[in-house]
Amino acid sequence: MAAPRSYLIVGAGCFGASTARALKQTYPDADVLLVDPAPFPDPAAAAHDFNKIIRAEYDDPAYMALALEAKEAWYGADPVVSPFFHRSGALWSVTDGRAHRLEDNYRRLLGRVPLEVLSLDDARERFPVLGSCKFEGGAEKCVLSPEAGWAEAAGALGAVVKAAVDAGVRYEVATVEKLQFDQDDTCTGVVTADGRTFEAQHVVLCSGAYTPWLLAESAPERPILHAGDRLKAAAVLMCVFKVPPGEKGLDKYKGAPVMVHPFGEFPAECIPPGDSHTRDLAKCTHEFPYTHKTYHEPSKQDISVPPLSKAERMTWTTDLPDALTANSKSVWDMFFGGAVQGMKPESYRLCWDSSTPDEDWIISPHPASKNLYIAAGGSFHGYKFLPIIGKYIVQMLDGKLSEEHSRKWAWDRDITPIVTKYTPRGDLKDVVGYHD
Ligand SMILES: Cc1cc2nc3c(=O)[nH]c(=O)nc-3n(C[C@H](O)[C@H](O)[C@H](O)COP(=O)(O)OP(=O)(O)OC[C@H]3O[C@@H](n4cnc5c(N)ncnc54)[C@H](O)[C@@H]3O)c2cc1C
Repeated sequence: MAAPRSYLIVGAGCFGASTARALKQTYPDADVLLVDPAPFPDPAAAAHDFNKIIRAEYDDPAYMALALEAKEAWYGADPVVSPFFHRSGALWSVTDGRAHRLEDNYRRLLGRVPLEVLSLDDARERFPVLGSCKFEGGAEKCVLSPEAGWAEAAGALGAVVKAAVDAGVRYEVATVEKLQFDQDDTCTGVVTADGRTFEAQHVVLCSGAYTPWLLAESAPERPILHAGDRLKAAAVLMCVFKVPPGEKGLDKYKGAPVMVHPFGEFPAECIPPGDSHTRDLAKCTHEFPYTHKTYHEPSKQDISVPPLSKAERMTWTTDLPDALTANSKSVWDMFFGGAVQGMKPESYRLCWDSSTPDEDWIISPHPASKNLYIAAGGSFHGYKFLPIIGKYIVQMLDGKLSEEHSRKWAWDRDITPIVTKYTPRGDLKDVVGYHD
């Protein structure tokens, strides 16, 4: 009898967890090994968080279509993730042009437009928490998406890994140090930091922000294997504020949607208090990604990589320089200013993702090594696809991705770089007071 097909997935974050589960759903007899440095859910994963925004508002209809598919899962079609979804609605400040694009996309894909358009003043009046929101920097109006919301991110991530493990996926706690190749440059498996070797017929890198470093470490002398400009590790600063009870505090957040203001000096998002973990915590994110360029001596190149010596900085901390934490204060001030009083920063996190120049993911065989596959480049918008992205990664592994998706997510593709609030534009080493 032929040996069962075997898969080794490096990284149990959003892409890895979803892939492991989808593989077992597609091939119940396959041997699927999921390797991650921590027991699940790994607090260092970008997908491990208090909460993440779940929305279908995309300018690119291809992502809106996928997000609508994911939304069905969050709404109830997938009982593994749906208990973690909160339909709070989401409010975006936008330009006229963006409002029209979103409306057109919805009309085309859904046949209806589940958006309400509000003036900036209407938004301030409708949601008391935004009563003094500055909406600075070019916003012309707001769109309110009543069908959007947020998910308890760590809870849903853990539930997806557990579903995979219950279905027979093997979970191994280990840090992959290097990929292993045979004499034909075929990827045969991985070597871990504690000296173990794991082999499989398919090796799928779902290692998020570490992916470029891991590729360079694995074969420093083979630039053809490296990520180059395709993928860049970048971090965005989040802060959870404790909101005091009372009419100037928590009461203001009653009925508040997720809020996103991608304009001005402090482009930002806020997910309001809501579940048992965030009963009195509002999470504010400053949309300003920082790289952390580090010289990789063996391959003689600068690579952005999360600070390897400061693993705790991957999770929540108060150990960050004033120059960074001041930005969280400015975000708070921009959104809530005089409207809410007594909010205190509790904890901060530089949350790392891998980012591509066009914000399209990489879900692709690696052209320079047989049996090696890449699923990375979440580009700060990958989480919402947790229930469904694995299905597409399995299609890629099977060579069955649609032509459109294959082209969009290829390792080698014609890239037109775009500039958004999530384009990396600072380096941590330039932040006053920052040190590794
Ligand atoms: C601040 C911030 C806010 C975001 N907000 C949203 C949002 O509101 N909505 C949304 O849809 N998306 C959001 N995202 C994006 C989303 O979280 C990511 O796109 C998504 O998590 C990427 O999935 P991933 O599997 O590539 O990486 P991750 O989720 O980071 O998982 C990577 C995993 O690989 C493991 N790993 C790394 N190196 C190794 C190794 N050498 N060996 C073994 N394992 C390894 C890591 O420990 C980790 O567990 C946000 C991202 C950030 C950073």
